[in-house]
Amino acid sequence: MPGFFRSRAGRQCLSVMMLGTVLWLLGAWLQFGDGLSAFVQMFDDYGAEKLVLAFVIAGAMSFIYSILRIADLRQEMELRAAAQFKADWTATHDHLTKLPNRYAFERKKLTRSTPKNHEHAEAEALNVTVFSVDLDGFKKVNDLVGHKGGDILLIEVARRICSLGNADCVYRFGGDEFVIIGAGMTEERERHFARVLIQAVTRPISIDGFAVEVGASVGYERWIEGSEPLENAAHRADLAMYEAKSRGPNHALAFEASMQDKVAERAALEAKLRTAIQQKAIRPFYQPLIDLKTGDICGFEALARWTDDSGTSIPPPVFIGIAEETGMITELFENLLTQACSDALAWHDRIVLSFNISPVQMEDRLLASRVLKVLVASGLPPERLEIEITENALIQDPAVAAVILDELHAAGVQIALDDFGTGYSSLAQLARYRFDKIKIDKSFVATYQDDERQEKIVRAMLGLGHSLNIKTTAEGIEEHSQLGYLTRLGCDIGQGYLFGKAMPAEQASAFIAERMQTLSAAG
Ligand code: C2E
Ligand code: MG
Ligand code: MG
Repeated sequence: MPGFFRSRAGRQCLSVMMLGTVLWLLGAWLQFGDGLSAFVQMFDDYGAEKLVLAFVIAGAMSFIYSILRIADLRQEMELRAAAQFKADWTATHDHLTKLPNRYAFERKKLTRSTPKNHEHAEAEALNVTVFSVDLDGFKKVNDLVGHKGGDILLIEVARRICSLGNADCVYRFGGDEFVIIGAGMTEERERHFARVLIQAVTRPISIDGFAVEVGASVGYERWIEGSEPLENAAHRADLAMYEAKSRGPNHALAFEASMQDKVAERAALEAKLRTAIQQKAIRPFYQPLIDLKTGDICGFEALARWTDDSGTSIPPPVFIGIAEETGMITELFENLLTQACSDALAWHDRIVLSFNISPVQMEDRLLASRVLKVLVASGLPPERLEIEITENALIQDPAVAAVILDELHAAGVQIALDDFGTGYSSLAQLARYRFDKIKIDKSFVATYQDDERQEKIVRAMLGLGHSLNIKTTAEGIEEHSQLGYLTRLGCDIGQGYLFGKAMPAEQASAFIAERMQTLSAAG
C-alpha cells in the first residue's frame, strides 16, 4: 500500500482525502451541520431532504467508483510494469542462451559510474578484468550438425562458462562471441581463469549423437573503475582475442599496447589498399612457366605486385589477405584479370596465362561468369587461360566450388591445383574434381634434397600426376640440381627463380623473344 501512495494516482487520492478532511473540519468548526439541518427543515416542503440524501448517495457512489477505478489503475500499472520488464529483458538479453547481451554490457557501465546504484557485487570491486572469448571452428560445427545443432552447442558453451562462477557477469555479444567480467583478479588468476575457460569450452559436446569440439580464443584486459568506460577495456580485450586467434586455436593473451598499434597499422593499410585498387595501382607481374621436356616457355603465372607511394613493396599474401577480408578481392581480381588478359594477347598464342583465385572467391556463385565476361571483353581464347586454386579453396563450400569448376571447364578454361600437398585433404580433392594440372608446392622442392621423406613424397606426387594423366608443375626451382632431378623424374613444367622471377609485362615480352632466340640458336 505505501507503494500506491507514492504513485501519481495515490498522491492524488491522498490530496483529495486531506482536502475532504479539512473541509469536514471547517464545516464542523463553522457548525455547517446545524445550518444544513435548518436548511432541510426550512425547505422540507420542497423535498430538500431528498436532495441532501441524493448528494450523500452520489458522494458514496463516487467514492466506491473511485476505489474501483484505483483498483483498475493498479492492475493496469502492474501489467505495464510487467510489459516494461519483459521489453527491457528482451532488449538486454540473448534469447538463445538467456545471457545478457552487448546492450546490457553497455548499460552496466552507467550503473557502475553511479555510486549509489551498486546492483552487482563486482561493482564494488576496485578493478575488474574483461575476458573476450571467441569460438574457433564454430562455422565448421554449424556445417556439420546444422544451425539447430549449432544452437545447442552455444547453449552448452554458455552453461559451461556460467558454471565457472561469475554467472551474472557472462554476456553473449552475438554469434560465437562471449564476454566475461571477473572481479579483483591478480595477473596469475587472470591467466588461470583464461586457461580454465579454454578447457571448459573445448571439452567435446554431444549433439545428436555426434561428439563435436570447438576451440576458444581468449583475450583479456584489466579495467580500473572510474578510469574510462568499461567498453574501452572490452574493445582492447577483443584486440587481444584477435591476436590470440591469429596464433591458432586455444590461445589466451593479455592485451598489450603493440596490439593496438598493429590494428592502427592495419586500418591505415586497408585505406591505402582501397585507394590503390580504385586507382588500379596494383599490377600483374608475370613469372615464366617452362616446359621441362623442350625448354620452351609454355605459360606465365600472373602475380599481383603493389608498390605503395613511399616505394615500399607490399607482399601479395598481406594485401590479398586484407582484400579477401574486406570484400575488395572481387574488384582487385577483375582489375588484375582484365590487365593480364590484355597483356597475354601480345604473347605467342601457345603461351598460357595462369591466374590465381583466392579461396574466398570460390564461394562466389558468379565467379565463372565474372571470369568469362573478362575473357570475352579481352578477346583472349578461354583455352589460353588457366585458373589456379588451392586445396583450401575447395573446402569452404564444395558444392559451389564444383559448379564453378564445371562452368569454367565447360567454357574451355584449364584448372590447376596450386600448392599441392600443403592444404587440406589433397587426395580427396584429386578424387573429386577434374584438374588439368597439379602444382607441387615449393616447400617440397626446397627440402627434398636434405629430407629423404620429402623426396619420396615428391616422387609419389609426380607418379600420381602421371597415373591420373594430369600434368605436373614444380614450383620454386632455384638450382640446376633441382631442375635436373625433377626433369629426370618426368615433371612436366618448371617454375622458379632459376628461370626468372615475376616481371612486368614489357619484360615478359622481351623474355619470350630472348628465350626463343636462345632455343633456336641451341637447336
Ligand atoms: P603462388 O600462387 O603459389 O605463387 C608462387 C609464389 O612463389 C609467388 O610468390 C612467387 O613469387 C614465389 N616463387 C616463385 N618461384 C620461386 C622460387 O624459386 N623461390 C621462392 N622462394 N619463391 C618463388 P608471391 O608473388 O609472393 O605470391 C604469393 C602468393 O600470393 C601466391 O602463391 C598466391 O597464392 C598469392 N597471389 C599472388 N598474386 C595473386 C593474385 O593476383 N590473386 C590471388 N588470388 N592470389 C595471388
Ligand atoms: Mg599460383
Ligand atoms: Mg603455388
